[in-house]
Amino acid sequence: MKIYNSLSRQLEDFVPLNPEQVSIYSCGPTVYDYIHIGNARTALVTDIIRRYLGYKGYKVKLAQNLTDIDDKIIDRAGLLGVSPSQLAQEYGEAFLEDAKKFGTEADVHPKATEHIPEMIALIQTLLDKGVAYVVEGSVYYRVNRFPEYGKLSHRKPEDLLAGARVEIDERKEDPRDFDMWKAAKPGEPSWESPWGRGRPGWHIECSAMAMKHLGETLDIHVAGEDLQFPHNENEIAQSEMVTCKPFARYWVHVAFLQIDGTRMGKSEKNFILLRDALNQYPTEVIRHYLISAQYRHPLDYNLTGLEKSESALRRLSNCLDALKKYDTQVEVEETTTSPLQHAVQAMKSQFTAAMDADFNTAQALGAIFTLVSEVNRSLTAANGVPLTAFAEAYRALTEVCQVLGVYSTDAQRADGDDVEQRDHLIALLLEIRQDARSRKDWDTSDKIRDRLKQLNVEIQDTRDGATWKIVS
Ligand SMILES: [Zn+2]
Repeated sequence: MKIYNSLSRQLEDFVPLNPEQVSIYSCGPTVYDYIHIGNARTALVTDIIRRYLGYKGYKVKLAQNLTDIDDKIIDRAGLLGVSPSQLAQEYGEAFLEDAKKFGTEADVHPKATEHIPEMIALIQTLLDKGVAYVVEGSVYYRVNRFPEYGKLSHRKPEDLLAGARVEIDERKEDPRDFDMWKAAKPGEPSWESPWGRGRPGWHIECSAMAMKHLGETLDIHVAGEDLQFPHNENEIAQSEMVTCKPFARYWVHVAFLQIDGTRMGKSEKNFILLRDALNQYPTEVIRHYLISAQYRHPLDYNLTGLEKSESALRRLSNCLDALKKYDTQVEVEETTTSPLQHAVQAMKSQFTAAMDADFNTAQALGAIFTLVSEVNRSLTAANGVPLTAFAEAYRALTEVCQVLGVYSTDAQRADGDDVEQRDHLIALLLEIRQDARSRKDWDTSDKIRDRLKQLNVEIQDTRDGATWKIVS
């Protein structure tokens, strides 16, 4: 299995430190707003890496942090007239709800404000080693003490300097230096530290939380490509100067999601919130769409793509519904003889080959849908197809679809389908009632209204037509 490592800029064989505990860290959101679907792409890639490693037999622990103290939180809380901790609490909970619904929840979601002592300890170690300095209660990292600085983003020292000069801070010894601890400002949240009251910088959070929950060297670190510099670079600089060990062995960076060719982002103001997308489309449709391109390729988010995913998933679930009965009726035999059984084996090996090649989900989906077509052909011409082949196809397809999280057999999905069905039926009755009213057939019209009322569906006639709501 190969992973593209941003650090070496090469595909590398994946060899975990300990197959019994593969560690994955993913840079999480700053909780000052709902997350957008571009952030969700990174979370989804992380989730699929985790599920696929599980499929390969590894035990995995995934940590994704929540940045719950930051300038953005303080600014937005000020605008809304609430406290920063209240705002962070609210959006932190909303984030976890979204993650749960999207199937991307990590094993642990550590919060920055719950790891202040760990951050202080790291900063103190760096001060003791002479890799940091204090100015007026703030602590800065001394970049020139880390000769490998720039190794992740592959930036030359002169480029780093040019970039850093944009933001001139007279208190820094070197424009590239960055703050790990910010001295308290009046009215802002702050914590006690050996350097006076203050709050942590963003980069030190990830170093502290990753090492606390996963150990000094991570197997895989995942982040959006925009975080590679300076955030991830600074995480390396801090952590490796403390431990003298590699901080992460494989660095995975996920490409941007785009809208009309422009990066989706809060600053570009062209974002779609994950929760809005999930209200419009089933989870599986959004997941399918976001993995329809391999994660290092940009992907354009648009209606046509979503509709394609929706119809692909309808094809998939129709196929699985048709196969389901064979799973319970038929004992699977070990022999592989029929063409369909060969197709099942081919799908499995193509799926694994695609996922082993740096998680090529686009090709993995291709293998799945090739088998779906094969199954559909076999179902219509069922003569001569051994029933055991259908059972094998069902098991193989459900297994790989669950690795990608594009098919769920749980009750939640059934509930969703029931609600959709109900809505269609009520709409149909309202249409019949409208026809009756236009014929002045008040008896039929009233009968539909009254019978629906008995079923707790209340109709209201408005100028724009009838609407309905469920009453209890
Ligand atoms: Zn991070």
